[in-house]
Amino acid sequence: MSTAFELLAERPTLERDVVVIGAGPAGLMAAYTLKKAGKSVAVVEARDRVGGRTWNGKVKDINGNEHFIEIGGQWISPDQTRLIDLVNELGLATFKRYRDGENVYLAPDGTRHTYTGDVMPVSDKTNTEMEKLINLLNAKVDEMDVESPWEMPNAAELDAISFRDWLKQHSDDQEAIDNVSIYIASGMLTKPAHTFSALQAILMAASAGSFSNLVDEDFILDERVVGGMQSVSLKLAKHLGDDVILGSPVRQLNWAAPDDSTADVLNNVAADVRNGVPNNGAPGDVTAYADKVIVKAKNAVLAVPPNLYHRLQYVPPLPREQMVAHQHISMGLVIKVHAVYKTPFWRDKGLSGTGFGGGHVVQEVYDNTNYGPNFANDNDGEDPHGVLVSFISDVHAERLWALPEEERKQEILTELAAYLGEETMHPIAFFLSDMAAEEWTRGAYAASYDLGGLSRWGHLQNEPTGPIYYACSDIAAEGYQHVDGAVRQGEIAAKSIMEQLS
Ligand code: FAD
Repeated sequence: MSTAFELLAERPTLERDVVVIGAGPAGLMAAYTLKKAGKSVAVVEARDRVGGRTWNGKVKDINGNEHFIEIGGQWISPDQTRLIDLVNELGLATFKRYRDGENVYLAPDGTRHTYTGDVMPVSDKTNTEMEKLINLLNAKVDEMDVESPWEMPNAAELDAISFRDWLKQHSDDQEAIDNVSIYIASGMLTKPAHTFSALQAILMAASAGSFSNLVDEDFILDERVVGGMQSVSLKLAKHLGDDVILGSPVRQLNWAAPDDSTADVLNNVAADVRNGVPNNGAPGDVTAYADKVIVKAKNAVLAVPPNLYHRLQYVPPLPREQMVAHQHISMGLVIKVHAVYKTPFWRDKGLSGTGFGGGHVVQEVYDNTNYGPNFANDNDGEDPHGVLVSFISDVHAERLWALPEEERKQEILTELAAYLGEETMHPIAFFLSDMAAEEWTRGAYAASYDLGGLSRWGHLQNEPTGPIYYACSDIAAEGYQHVDGAVRQGEIAAKSIMEQLS
């Protein structure tokens, strides 16, 4: 019997070697790699644009002038070598984040301190405790192979304890715990530290090389792409031309023949593939039914975030272990705040624009002034307008989204003022990224496992299911939850398929 998706209005049917579902950096990199190797591809994308969670945007100021903003992912760190090479290969340039001058630290009691270097101006005791926790985390990172975190010593044990409880086991200094926790909880996974495991936190650090790298904002937030990170996807899509089909969510994926032995006539259950299929990864017959097109191919790359896997209907349904595992990986929640000012006034006060405040509503703020031409401006050098970017994570984000717009804005600006002064209260333009309200993302920055999920199901996440390969930053090893991880994943999926197809 045909499903509703199969019977949708007339659509062209394309025949390709590989259908790629999702035109974010992972899907586009998979398609680009396959096409360069002579394979035929079609990339089918739900949105009317490519780039997924990377998105060059604009905001209008009070005078009606447009300013460039990066609504999604933007920074590159030096360890993200696959992305750096790709940026060069695509002929894109990068620029460094502004970081001259003093940083600001907001203590839990609200007192404001300025400092330089990477040691926060906390008490000696808190500093000793922070160093102890950081060293402990670095030592755990050394025990982990980032390709298989579930195999590290005591993986299940570390996955059974929340990151917050693990920190509490090793320190009784609340300020030290808050400061160490922000780098992974609100700063990266964008979930409260009691909702994910110590193992998941160690993976986040290991994927960046060490926990010390995550703590070092000059490392982790090093460079941006001139013209915006979405330019990487736009350039990749240009190479693919008409093989990228936009505005066309894939609704159904037919991918295997049911296993007759699973049929249960007595209970009227049709045959499926509950016990898996032989030769995972080998080419087969897949058909992707999307709103504007049907694509028949030998393999599929599912390049959507794992929290959206269930948005497709699989025919037959995926094997039981995938169906269960996919329910235990969920998106975080963060608001990315952009405030544009006439000038980067903080620099005149000798401030870098960088600020941290564990436990505060706005826990981090940075100078995000644009450089070079972008799609709002033709600047050759630095944009004379100053831009601040800051982040509001998890439960704070929930509370702020529930406020009336103007109240929300005033609260955020007041928070910024605590870091950088009263001038922050008067932006000429203001914008909040809201990826959680986007149908084809549903959160930010990325997806991670519930407590206990990584050790239980992580080993499945990069294993193909029949002819279906998975590729996304959120199941990456190096570059986990970052554009670099997405690019690596796309390339790995493409190369694995090429080995099987040849
Ligand atoms: P995505 O970018 O999510 O792409 C998936 C694509 O699949 C989307 O285009 C989506 O529309 C499409 N799709 C979904 N369902 C379907 C369907 N059924 N049919 C067809 N298409 C579908 N990373 C960094 O490296 N540096 C940063 O500074 C950084 N900051 C970030 C800030 C924010 C606010 C956010 C949201 C993310 C940030 N990230 C950052 C993370 C980075 O953007 C992601 O890791 C990266 O975009 C993931 O790429 P992807 O291709 O795996 O997934």
